Formats: sequence, structure tokens, C-alpha cells
Amino acid sequence: MYKQYLRKSDGRYLILYWQKPTTVSLLENNLGVESSPINNELRWNPVLEEWVGVATQRQSRTFFPPDNFCPLCVTKEGEFITEIPLANYEVAVFQNKFPAFTANCVEPIKDDFYLNTSAQGECEVVVYSPDHQATLANLSILEIENLIEAWKDRFAELGAQEHVKYVYIFENKGREIGVTLPHPHGQIYAFPFIPPIPERELRAVEKHWVKYQECLFCKILEKETTHQERIVIENEAFLAFIPFYARWPYETHIYSKRHVSAITDFNFKECNLLARLLKGLLDCFDKLWQKPFPYIMLMHQRPTDGKNYDFYHFHIEFYPPYRTQDKLKYLAGVEAGCGVFLNDSQAEEKAKELRKNTSGENMV
Ligand SMILES: [Zn+2]
Ligand SMILES: [Zn+2]
Ligand SMILES: [Zn+2]
Repeated sequence: MYKQYLRKSDGRYLILYWQKPTTVSLLENNLGVESSPINNELRWNPVLEEWVGVATQRQSRTFFPPDNFCPLCVTKEGEFITEIPLANYEVAVFQNKFPAFTANCVEPIKDDFYLNTSAQGECEVVVYSPDHQATLANLSILEIENLIEAWKDRFAELGAQEHVKYVYIFENKGREIGVTLPHPHGQIYAFPFIPPIPERELRAVEKHWVKYQECLFCKILEKETTHQERIVIENEAFLAFIPFYARWPYETHIYSKRHVSAITDFNFKECNLLARLLKGLLDCFDKLWQKPFPYIMLMHQRPTDGKNYDFYHFHIEFYPPYRTQDKLKYLAGVEAGCGVFLNDSQAEEKAKELRKNTSGENMV
């Protein structure tokens, strides 16, 4: 894909992706402008042994646009300037206006007991389409392939930065998850450390690799393929299933059938099959209750700290928040305080519910 860098008037970058080269003129281009440093910090919790990001500037959001204003739509002539001043693009990526992590941040004041450090990293917003009404589920296969290309590019570019140890691609979808902007978009966080959940996975998978000389994810793939009952949808290159140990009733994972550790390892054919599988799965979700299905979608990939992670295996996880059509699952005392999830449904029965909605092409 072709891409074009722009600099917004406040110093943030905007990257536009196109299938074909473009000669369009840029309404806003301030390549010389530098954004001002932000005093975000990471504070270490010695009790739980984990980092907490503190980004106080996120509170002072002073931007009050009109009710019908969508900052992710392309700027219309004579109207409010949105995040995207151009009409002609397939996927757009820009720096979050209120980032939790940024390359340009000041060193925090040190303490003689507590540990803290600057929150160096990057927070990007990925706009899937210029179409305000679209969703990932109803984009065309070609449009999803374009998005996958953009994800690959961001993984490679952010991951190559010295201070970035982990590139995290995700999407929060639906009001139930707290998303107020319906315009189809996801996010990318480039962390200066490996976050705890991927780290726990990496530890377990490496342990399995050392003990059995096999990939734990490849083993799970083999189990699920034999068992069949938890599979939602599959094709030649990917398998979507509800794990035996799902925390959420409709928690669905997508594993690549080939043992690779990052999205950049996929060939052209696999990207096409990933686009097809994503669309097929989201279609199952939306058809379940004939209404848009909210979810958190996230990618777990190898860290970008330069070490060897050949034992790891690319996958995508979906956490839909519903238990039943009208009941949401909340993280209450046991989940929030003990880290133990209670799931009141079985993976096998929920997979069957979702499987009923698969269209012919992707039937198991
Ligand atoms: Zn919009
Ligand atoms: Zn594997
Ligand atoms: Zn995972």
C-alpha cells in the first residue's frame, strides 16, 4: 500500500494509506511542527509488581464540538476541522490527542522509595474507513485486507523503535464497552515494556516449549480441531473457537494454523483468509441477536524488544461483554479483587449458538 505522512497543526502525525498512488493536495501539512512534551509517567506498584500509567492531561479535554460532529469523519468544506483533512484514503492512522504513552514526554520527579519512569511509547487511532456508518463486520474483504496491511505496517514501524517493547493492536466496540464514537476505528498502543497479560502468556508458552518441544498454541489448535465442538468458524489458514477455559461466555479466539508469531509473518493469501475469517466471525456475532455485537478485540503477538520469541504464536482474542441477549457481564468482587473469572456458561453451548449463524462459505 502507499502511505503519506502529514503533520497536524498541533504537531501530531497523521498517516494515510491508499491502494493506488495519489496526487491529492493536502489541506493541512505542518511537517516542521513539533508537538510539546507531555508529563505522562509510569508508576510501579510494588505490591502487585506491575506498572500503572498516569496520564493526567487526559482529564483536561477541553474540546467541545457540536453534537453531530464526528472527529473521525473527513473535514467538510467550511465546517469544523476533524482529525482527517482529506477525503481520499482507505485507512488513516493518527496520534491520539490524549495519549497514555508518547515518544515526547518529560522525566517525572523521582521518589526515594517509589519507582516511576516516563511513559515513553505511542498511542495511535486507526480509522478503518472514511464511511461513518461502516463497521469492521460490514467492510468488504478488500477493505479489511487494506486494514490488515496498515496493521502490519504499524507493527513493523512502531516495533522497530528502540523504546517500544510491545505493540498492542486492539478495538473497543460498542457503547457497552464505553465507546462514544460510532465511526469504525481501533487503536494501537506501543508500550515501553511487555504488559502483564502477554507476559504471563509468554512465560507459560515458553515453559511448555522447553518441557515438550512443542508450541502450546499449536497443541490447542490440534485439540480443538479434533474436538470440533468449540469451533465457531474456520478456513484453510485460521481457526476461530471458544476456548475450553473462556472467561467470557462468547470469548472467541482466532489462531493462525501456521506457527508464526506476528501479523507481519503472513503472506498475501493468509491476509486474504484472515480478512475472510474476521468478517465471517463478526457476521456470526451480529446475527446472533440481530443487533450490533459489542466486543473488545485484541491481538497477541511477539514482543518487539529484540529477543527471540520463536516459541510464540499469533492470535486474536474477542471479549464480548454479554452473558445473554439482555444481560451484561460485569467485573465484580471476585473478578476484580481476586482475578478469578466466573463463567456461567459452557464454551461448547455458546460456540454452537454462534456456529448456527455461519454463512455457507465458512461452514465448519
Ligand atoms: Zn464519522
Ligand atoms: Zn504454534
Ligand atoms: Zn492471548
